[in-house]
Amino acid sequence: MAGSSLKIALIGNPNTGKTSVFNLLTGLNQQVGNYPGITVERKVGSCRLPNGTKGTILDLPGTYSLNASSMDENVVIELLLNKNDKDYPDVAVVVTDVENLKRNLLLFTQIKDLEIPAILVINMADRMDKKGITVDIPYLESHLKTRIALISSRKGTGIDHLKELIVNYAALPTEPCLNASSIDPDYFNKLRQTFPNQLLYKLWLVITQDVNFGLIDLKELQGTAFTKTKSELKRLQQKETIKRYQFINDVLKTGQVIDHSKANDLRAKLDRVLTHRIFGYVIFFGILMLIFQSIFSWSEIPMNFIDESFAWLSAFTSQHMQPGKLTDLITQGIIPGIGGVVIFIPQIAFLFLFISVLEETGYMSRVVFLMDNVMKRFGLSGKSVVPLISGTACAIPAIMAARNIENWRERLITILVTPFTTCSARLPVYSILISLIIPNRYVLGIFNLQGLTLMLLYLLGFTGAILSAWILNKVLDIKHKSFFVAEMPNYKLPLLKNIGLTVLEKTKAFVYGAGKIILALSIIIWFLGSHGPGKKFSDAPAIVTAMPQSKTLTESQLNDAIAAYQLENSYIGIAGKGIEPVIRPLGYDWKIGIAIVSSFAAREVFVGTLATIYNIGSSAENEDEGTIRQRMAAEVNPVTGEKIFNFATGASLLLFYAFAMQCISTLAITKKETNSWKWPIIQLVGMSGFAYIVSFITYQLLK
Ligand code: GDP
Repeated sequence: MAGSSLKIALIGNPNTGKTSVFNLLTGLNQQVGNYPGITVERKVGSCRLPNGTKGTILDLPGTYSLNASSMDENVVIELLLNKNDKDYPDVAVVVTDVENLKRNLLLFTQIKDLEIPAILVINMADRMDKKGITVDIPYLESHLKTRIALISSRKGTGIDHLKELIVNYAALPTEPCLNASSIDPDYFNKLRQTFPNQLLYKLWLVITQDVNFGLIDLKELQGTAFTKTKSELKRLQQKETIKRYQFINDVLKTGQVIDHSKANDLRAKLDRVLTHRIFGYVIFFGILMLIFQSIFSWSEIPMNFIDESFAWLSAFTSQHMQPGKLTDLITQGIIPGIGGVVIFIPQIAFLFLFISVLEETGYMSRVVFLMDNVMKRFGLSGKSVVPLISGTACAIPAIMAARNIENWRERLITILVTPFTTCSARLPVYSILISLIIPNRYVLGIFNLQGLTLMLLYLLGFTGAILSAWILNKVLDIKHKSFFVAEMPNYKLPLLKNIGLTVLEKTKAFVYGAGKIILALSIIIWFLGSHGPGKKFSDAPAIVTAMPQSKTLTESQLNDAIAAYQLENSYIGIAGKGIEPVIRPLGYDWKIGIAIVSSFAAREVFVGTLATIYNIGSSAENEDEGTIRQRMAAEVNPVTGEKIFNFATGASLLLFYAFAMQCISTLAITKKETNSWKWPIIQLVGMSGFAYIVSFITYQLLK
């Protein structure tokens, strides 16, 4: 065997410790991708086995049985039924949890019946003492017709034995556990006669699961005398499940002894508090608040560092390179573009650190239990609460956090509506607009009007998300069978290795997936803002200097005036002016148009762009918001003489930024997470279209 690579499939119910076993076997030698065409994660790793054998381990999505009810489960079935699949395993390693053996073994018996060489891993051995569980391994091995590795992935025990078993997979028995014909002897006999060369249980799965693996011509099945109706098939499937459980119960009666007096009730007590009708929510929101506070304050330091480092790198590079187009591209396009990707890493890493702790400890399952009922009404999952609230920091990590939602439909809806949540990039825009149109006054002595407005905008964001989820839930035509998860895993101390690997993997997925798109789009937007057609752009310095009013300007004021003139005549400037007829009904002029177009890169750019247009410049003194605010407050319409930033325009702009999809990075991450351009485009058109309508109505009513 030396030199060749064994194909090993890791299979198991969710929460059995499959990921921990995978991490233990593969360490850092993991690659995470997607199955072609769908968004189910595909994890492959390599592992050194005894005698110099190399193993390639495919970590299949967690599944309860081979009766598919989700996209994840389909992946498992399609692979196990198709011997021609390049991933078809030499050996299946089925992971179970010693505390849930009865339920976990259902899947194992199904895999055995496909006559795939299978090893049974009984994990969490470290908990047996505490729970008073003993297992009779030789008895189980002979009755389940397999070899067993009793392991603890937490303590790292039993792994060597598992590796031995894997290498010697050829010696594994391949007899089935259940005799498939016993489900309905008459029917199965007919099946056998029609397809004499096929495995009966495989045929049965093909018939009931509607999966195609090319070996059997399904047409042969249709119209034959033994076709069954859907409800007859369903009944037979139930009969199969009952038979399997009878078999498992029989085996476990002798194979496993549980001393119930030992099983302590700490878990029950904790559950009672954490899923309490009132305390449950209080604790959950308390934890969330704590998490987001930490993300904000912890991320700030590395984010500032990243920001300053990239600014320094830009300045350093431009000093040490020949002035010219290439230098501009590198120092103003590429370096800030990469910086714009790297800046998200701290938030992503911290968010996933917390999320994986919540998952690992078993708390997340309680959250789902708590929130599911409410969220389901809007087509969301209990777990959608995490992305929706993480969105207050930034939609990028928030959308990635939706990965924890197993059901694709609920996950998609969560991804699509999360950007409505008020993210931190909206804050600078809100704060300047609010200070322009809302008086800094107190009502009832304690409520500051400006603060109230800001709170209202946050509420509006959440409402926008929930309402659009409700609408999407009505219109989205995606079939899903939501499977009911009856179990709640035990509380456990999190495994550091699992958490570390999760954080690493999510960060890598962001940098290599969405990062590329963000970088490319930032460079394009930079190009459009710093280049323009014709003489007006290229001769800007000469034109502005020759203007009579420029005579009295200082050098820095002159530079600001040139920058403003250039922006006005750049491609973005032209686009901003071009859309003026479209945005005039919202109360905006071309200057606001330019700010809207350029802030499509990121919302906070809005303020900076207005500063440039209003010719306030980018030198330090002008970063003072006050200067820009004064300039905006003084701006009047040359035709009507009215203030530009009056209440109607300000309110319309606030609502525009509350709802419009003004963020290419979010679109990039949506593309990455949904694996298609369709959804980001729907998000863009839907959100910005809605924003347009709301702002239009607001302006027309208020003006
Ligand atoms: P998966 O859902 O099957 O991939 O399971 P994970 O690997 O994510 O593990 C589920 C939970 O069980 C996590 O909280 C792990 O820390 C925990 N866990 C995994 N293996 C062991 C083990 O051997 N002993 C104990 N006590 N906990 C474990």
